[in-house]
Amino acid sequence: MINKLTIIGVGLIGGSLARALRKGGHVREVMGYGRNLAHLQEAVGLGVIDYAAVTLKEAAREADLVVVAVPVGSIPEIFSELTPGLEDGTIVTDVGSVKVPVIKAAQAALGARFPFFVPGHPIAGTERSGVGASDADLFRRRRVILTPEPETDTAAAARVRTMWQATGAEVVTMTAEQHDHVLAASSHLPHMLAYALVEMVVRMDDHRAIFDNAAGGFRDFTRIASSDPVMWRDICLANREVLVPLLRQYRNDLGTLIKAVEEGNGEVLLELFARAKRARDTLLTNDK
Ligand code: NAP
Repeated sequence: MINKLTIIGVGLIGGSLARALRKGGHVREVMGYGRNLAHLQEAVGLGVIDYAAVTLKEAAREADLVVVAVPVGSIPEIFSELTPGLEDGTIVTDVGSVKVPVIKAAQAALGARFPFFVPGHPIAGTERSGVGASDADLFRRRRVILTPEPETDTAAAARVRTMWQATGAEVVTMTAEQHDHVLAASSHLPHMLAYALVEMVVRMDDHRAIFDNAAGGFRDFTRIASSDPVMWRDICLANREVLVPLLRQYRNDLGTLIKAVEEGNGEVLLELFARAKRARDTLLTNDK
């Protein structure tokens, strides 16, 4: 049981975590902090949080666990402002979609408290944002990746693991570097491609007709281009060292495809499509 949970950034992810823990009776009191009081009042009205904190000092007071759930680009400033108010024994965790830069920011800001920071990332979400989209079941049967460092306190990591398990998630651990590479390919790259495709199509003169006649392919492929632009700008910038080589590799592979189509080379196309289909059908086991 968590006595006092503080959520910094009561949006889709922070709000869903609070809802899940409340629903299961795993938390006594939830405090929320954000920039916009109206959003926090909405969260109180929805029963997601009990109180809104006006300052980070107030947010940190007597908290057992502080969950930082703001866009990745805002995490360093939150860590810096949060640290002076933290009490002994308070565990800090985050949900940021990129881990290496978040850990560096935590090291710089938290100092001696760094062992009580447990980096995390739930592999769950939707293209919607804000507390209105939060859902108590968002993490059920989903994965949460924790990327503890050698200095991370074992009991702190165990507490964060237990918290996520209480939401119905499966918790796994890996290094932050591995996380950022895996997520660059499985999440960050697809988002870039979806944004790029919609942006390309919308510049066409007949784009209205294209959107009006869009069926499964366009809808499925571009759903994630409805995701929050600030969040994705921050992820791109934070993980650029990993993401740029993947974007370049994708561009090269598109070159192969263009050449095959141009040359009418059905053999190359069939081989490529069959290999991709086989891989997707066999490797994407939890396709929901
Ligand atoms: P969201 O719905 O937009 O929520 C973000 C919340 O943070 C908002 O409630 C916002 O409230 C608050 N906020 C933003 N900047 C802030 C700042 N500087 N100081 C204090 N509060 C701030 O976004 P989300 O989807 O929950 O994403 C939150 C984090 O989870 C991000 O780091 C993202 O990378 C990660 N994540 C997202 C997904 C996903 O699919 N969406 C999945 C896994 C992890 P105010 O505007 O009222 O301040």
